[in-house]
Amino acid sequence: MEVRTRFAPSPTGHLHIGGARTALFNYLFAKKHGGKFIVRIEDTDLERSSIESEKVILESLRWLGIEWDEGVEVGGPYGPYRSTERVDIYKKYVDILFEKGYAYHCYCTEEELEYQRQQLLSQGKMPRYTGKCRNLTDAEKRKLEAEGRKPAVRFKVLEGVKIVVHDLVRGDVEFLSDDIGDFVIVKSDGIPTYNFAVVIDDHLMKISHVIRGEEHLSNTPRQILIYNALGFDLPQFAHVSLILGKDRTKMSKRHGSTWVEQYREKGYLKEGLINFLALLGWSPEENIEIFDMQYLIENFSLERVSKNPAIFDLDKLNYINSQH
Ligand code: GLU
Repeated sequence: MEVRTRFAPSPTGHLHIGGARTALFNYLFAKKHGGKFIVRIEDTDLERSSIESEKVILESLRWLGIEWDEGVEVGGPYGPYRSTERVDIYKKYVDILFEKGYAYHCYCTEEELEYQRQQLLSQGKMPRYTGKCRNLTDAEKRKLEAEGRKPAVRFKVLEGVKIVVHDLVRGDVEFLSDDIGDFVIVKSDGIPTYNFAVVIDDHLMKISHVIRGEEHLSNTPRQILIYNALGFDLPQFAHVSLILGKDRTKMSKRHGSTWVEQYREKGYLKEGLINFLALLGWSPEENIEIFDMQYLIENFSLERVSKNPAIFDLDKLNYINSQH
């Protein structure tokens, strides 16, 4: 099977160090195995996404030398891989979920959802969707629509199911469907959510390995439920650890610049930054720490990616940069 990986940034800001590390690992894994690396812009959050951000992210990737084999181009014509240009494709699969009984319309307003959450919390229960709209009759739906309510679409999560993520970095991680609750797959504005679009895209783009940040691990069981409902084969998952500062708190401005362009503007070498990014969670078998992209392509492996948090150390970056 061909190895196909992807980097799927949401265009809501700059290319952060963590995003660049994720892109690099996906790139290296694909190249090591003679596969393909894809860039897909996940712009389903219409309010927060912008073309400027998309351009900045793609330019930063290019500068680093992380070139993609398929996907969007800067300055257009835009390639096929932007979520908002694929809404019609997603809709077809939403229809299939309706046909299979896995989807339903939810008319709850933000206020009602908040009220339900507070109720559950006050009973000492996990705040998750109560399933209130699961069994609405057609007459009830018509009444709610007559009030001007636009429904979202929710995925029906069956109770009592254990979902195991076989993660190439973290081993088996178990989740219970009862903790998840029915989640939104199409917002009331008609745009699919990330959790839904990502499954359809990864399936249609034949992604073999989903390598991404640990912050997405809790999304993975939801995605697996969608894969299963649609009868799609699962890709392999690998969640790479968070990046923390030397003081073990979440990486922030205090620890150094957080975006790739900031380093570019300060005159850092892309070779130095690539070398440093690779060491955020990965280590070579040999006891060396200065290497180039070619070495990384030849030696990268997910087995040597640590599940412990990676530590961002600016002194180390400066040292590595000085060696290139
Ligand atoms: N669009 C997501 C993000 O920027 C990426 C999620 C994924 O790789 O599945 O965090």
